[in-house]
Amino acid sequence: MTTNRASARFEAVRTAGSRAPRVFKKTFSSPHDLDLKASEYFGCNTFSFDMMEKKLSSSDISILREFATSDKPLTLDIANKVADAVRDWALARGATHYCHWFQPQTGATAEKHDAFFSFDKRGNAIEKFTGKELIQSEPDASSFPSGGVRATFEARGYTAWDASSPMFLMESENGLTLCIPSLFISYNGEALDEKTPLLRSLSALNKAATESLKLMGHDVKYVIASAGPEQEYFVCDESLFNLRPDLLLAGRTLLGRNPPRGQQLEDHYFGSIKPRILAFMMEAEHELYKLSVPCKTRHNEVAPSQCEIAPIFENANIAADHNQLVLEVLRTVARRHQLQVLFHEKPYAGINGSGKHVNWSLADNHGHNMLEPGDNPMDNIRFLWFLAGTIKAVNEYATLLRMSIASAGNDFRLGANEAPPAIISCFLGDTLTEVVQKLTTAGGGSLSDRAKNINLDLARVPLISRDNTDRNRTSPFAFTGNKFEFRAVGASASISPSLTYLNAAVAKALHEMNDQLKKANPRPNQDDILKLIVDTLNEHKKVCFEGNGYSTEWHKEAEKRGLPNIRTTPDALAAIKETKNKTMLASLGVHRGEEVEARYNVKLERYIKVRMIELETLQEMLSNEVFPAAVAHTRILAQSAASLKTAMGGIPSELEKQLRIASDLTAKMATAKDKLGTFLEQCAATHDEPKLAAKIASEGMPLMEEVRKVSDELELVVDDQLWSLPKYREILYMM
Ligand code: ADP
Ligand code: MG
Repeated sequence: MTTNRASARFEAVRTAGSRAPRVFKKTFSSPHDLDLKASEYFGCNTFSFDMMEKKLSSSDISILREFATSDKPLTLDIANKVADAVRDWALARGATHYCHWFQPQTGATAEKHDAFFSFDKRGNAIEKFTGKELIQSEPDASSFPSGGVRATFEARGYTAWDASSPMFLMESENGLTLCIPSLFISYNGEALDEKTPLLRSLSALNKAATESLKLMGHDVKYVIASAGPEQEYFVCDESLFNLRPDLLLAGRTLLGRNPPRGQQLEDHYFGSIKPRILAFMMEAEHELYKLSVPCKTRHNEVAPSQCEIAPIFENANIAADHNQLVLEVLRTVARRHQLQVLFHEKPYAGINGSGKHVNWSLADNHGHNMLEPGDNPMDNIRFLWFLAGTIKAVNEYATLLRMSIASAGNDFRLGANEAPPAIISCFLGDTLTEVVQKLTTAGGGSLSDRAKNINLDLARVPLISRDNTDRNRTSPFAFTGNKFEFRAVGASASISPSLTYLNAAVAKALHEMNDQLKKANPRPNQDDILKLIVDTLNEHKKVCFEGNGYSTEWHKEAEKRGLPNIRTTPDALAAIKETKNKTMLASLGVHRGEEVEARYNVKLERYIKVRMIELETLQEMLSNEVFPAAVAHTRILAQSAASLKTAMGGIPSELEKQLRIASDLTAKMATAKDKLGTFLEQCAATHDEPKLAAKIASEGMPLMEEVRKVSDELELVVDDQLWSLPKYREILYMM
């Protein structure tokens, strides 16, 4: 007997297995040569500064450029000119609507479209777009998370143009929309989004780092943070995806027995990419190039059907916008290929999850990378200064960094045995570790070959070899030659919060170092600078760790060193309210007024909602799919036993055994279902949010695990003809 659901599963497997790669024609939404190279159409859908230069006078451009890198307000006059130029460009490209494109605290983007279409004073139909409309818009903000900043009676918030990130045209089947990257702020000017604090943190970092450089005698105008996020994701066939309520609603599987073959053969990482997936990747990259997203790397990741896309790094604010576009474009293009992408941090138990390695560094207006060991002693002092500043920042604000990556999904990675641990530490690599060692221990001693370029005795300034190829996959925050890689960020998260708090922590550390330096000597020399670097490293090097971050020894060692190990999101979120963190964020202007409280509330609420969706979806799946399959299976076995007993006078022992296993598991499933139901009732009766979050983390999570175990055991014994949920082997391998 085959149930309808199970036959739907077989049908989906057949469909998934027989699809051909989708062939796509490159489209440019304006007549272009179809054989253009990427470099020839890169950015054709963005209104870049270069394009603006063609339309505006040079003095207007310089004001605009300044606006993009400073806090100065923009005059309406210039806004009108930009609006005219961008309207002409967008209309010529066939755009019909424009929208302020912003990032409320949902991890995703939001947009409300308005038509260019309007009436002039005499009632004639026209296309209109003004400076005022460019600068500001007022979406109904009442349905976005605000964490209490915006009292409910004051539902208004407004979006404001971020002139430092280029506007772009989003294509869809039937037209184009002009998207204006924007901030989202309450009427009192409090940030309701992810972009505003990021921009504030960049400005704080710019101030601190520029002062550092000036104190060290460098002639600089500004310093920017750059970011290159490596994005991991899974793909699966949509017909199988659609039959899994958990993937559909929770973005991850809540049940599912591991197939005998997972990632143990280690044949997927960098393996040849399946034609259907490659076809999808190529189309997505094509769309992303049009939007100026500089896609560089694509490859298979460790787990079956897991992939990665990485761009060339950019200014952190633009990189954050572009990462949002990557998520969006991958999602929409995948559907054209009858695929679904999963950005969840842990879509499948038992195989690797997905993260986002956010590569980060600082550069001055001359393009020098502050985290690049240089060719001469002065450059190396600069490098060591910023290295020390970053280490100090990570040590002092570890809980804030931990908070920045906390989410319901990322809880499955952090602290589990496959991804960065929940203990925030810095990996430096052998060479740098030796440099730090030599600098911070008196006497020095002879150096190894690897660090032989270091000459501490002569100028007392180490020359550091640039060749640093060390890798440590177990560190949450690793130095990789000329940048740090924040490896603990979740795959589905916006990169803005992690960048925001990292920038802020480093800004604060640099400010303190600047002050100490000025106090020691208002006109500091090399010796003063080096002494401060050494003192700073000495004070903070305890956050550096080179070993295996997964090992239990590290957990013990970290505890000895006093490094926090925060395992769950509810615990991690509290860090933003710690006085030290709160004071630092306020002093730099990264968060104002009620923002800190509000962010805590938003994140905690989100944690609860995500988990409640999971728990309720699980309950449905057990009731509608797993339990009925278990009962049907047991009934068939029982019927066979009964008829054999009648026919042969006894039940074969093997059948008897199977029947007992099936009925035991069915009974266990009934109990599990009840337990889950009771737990959900308790949750509904718990109104205190921190208590509810803690309850879910400490009781709900183990309960989900327990229930899942029974279901996964059932999956092994129940007749395949009765099992309606697509199995791991099918979702992971049928493409
Ligand atoms: P891997 O997988 O070896 O870590 P990838 O080449 O996949 O490296 O990704 C490295 C990322 O780091 C890319 O996005 C790259 O552009 C970025 N990156 C390189 N240099 C810098 C830098 N100075 N600042 C920020 N990001 C950088
Ligand atoms: Mg990397």
